[in-house]
Amino acid sequence: MSAPRFAVQYLEKPPEGVGPGQVRSRLRQAFARLPIDHVLLGWDLPPDLEEAAAEETARGGARLFRWQPLLTGDLHTDLPAEWATIGWNGDPVPGHGGVPEFTFVCPNRSAVADFLPERLEAVAARGLYQGVFLDRIRFPSPSPDPASHLACFCPHCVHLAADSGLDLESVRRTLGALLAAPDGCGRLARSLLGEAVEPGTPLEAFLDFRQGSLDRIVAAASRQAAALGLEVGLDCFSPSLTRMVGQNLSTLDGTCKWIKIMAYPRVFGPAGIAFELLGLAEWLVARGLPQAQALGLLAGASRLEIPATLAELRQTGLGAGALRDEIARARELGVKRLLAGLALVAMAGVHESTPDQIRADIAASRMADGLVLSWDLWLTPLTTLDAIRQAWP
Ligand SMILES: [Zn+2]
Repeated sequence: MSAPRFAVQYLEKPPEGVGPGQVRSRLRQAFARLPIDHVLLGWDLPPDLEEAAAEETARGGARLFRWQPLLTGDLHTDLPAEWATIGWNGDPVPGHGGVPEFTFVCPNRSAVADFLPERLEAVAARGLYQGVFLDRIRFPSPSPDPASHLACFCPHCVHLAADSGLDLESVRRTLGALLAAPDGCGRLARSLLGEAVEPGTPLEAFLDFRQGSLDRIVAAASRQAAALGLEVGLDCFSPSLTRMVGQNLSTLDGTCKWIKIMAYPRVFGPAGIAFELLGLAEWLVARGLPQAQALGLLAGASRLEIPATLAELRQTGLGAGALRDEIARARELGVKRLLAGLALVAMAGVHESTPDQIRADIAASRMADGLVLSWDLWLTPLTTLDAIRQAWP
């Protein structure tokens, strides 16, 4: 059972008015162009579309994984509002765009831990899948505003942290002091990007605590998946951004068969490097840091080449070099089977890449074990698949 060399993510949402024939047809077009060995199929499909995709995947000789969010809601599951993560300011952390699939629940709530096994049981019960591709295995990203989005400070986290000797009240005070001045906000942003600015402080202990919480919940899911006969791959943030969402690639690597990193240099949506860094940069500027200083400290902490102005970052995002650097960093962190996510969707305002950029991204991905065409084959133009075929060695 090998890790993917060439995987596609498919159908994050059921497209409106689309039937099984069209779901098959797009897969067939992709199989005709590229040596796809894994299809990672979205979680919200009605049974007829799901079965059509499963049949076509088998026909193409590929393996089928369920692309499954772990810590957010979905169309079928309205998760209780009281399971939400709680920010430093005491309020539930709002989801990106207010949608359930980007609204996170706290992994440290016992009710959440009790609920999660149902998700994998339901996947296994379909009898269609050889594995699960776990997504949303994280805390909400603090990049829009750490004061409201850095979580979690719910009573369950307070108790669990106290059990390991961490007082979340002292974390709140540390954060309060940092948030009070532009310079402190800068130090906080650097810590969130993994630079050890405040070693030995409650803030670093809190960031460690969150990583431990996710390690535990993913390891439990992985054990359950193995018992159900499902392999596990993980959808993780890009290495320079993992600490701010609570992911530790070094330890998560031990819980799964392979890891894909969402090192999307030009994506302006959650997990995109451009989006997350722009969020932090705009927040720092709003907190009173001069633009050049904000971008300079983010570049230093992330060790990525970031455009010199907010306008340029907004306009162009980062280059393919960011993808190459992040792959190298994931290797340094010990990820053994590493897949590079290539953002290929054409979505106005979120992502578009030119054929030249796609070629550069593929060249930058050489040190990965394989590619994942992200994040939705349905939204990827066929001309893009042709460009990949030409660029793929
Ligand atoms: Zn919590």
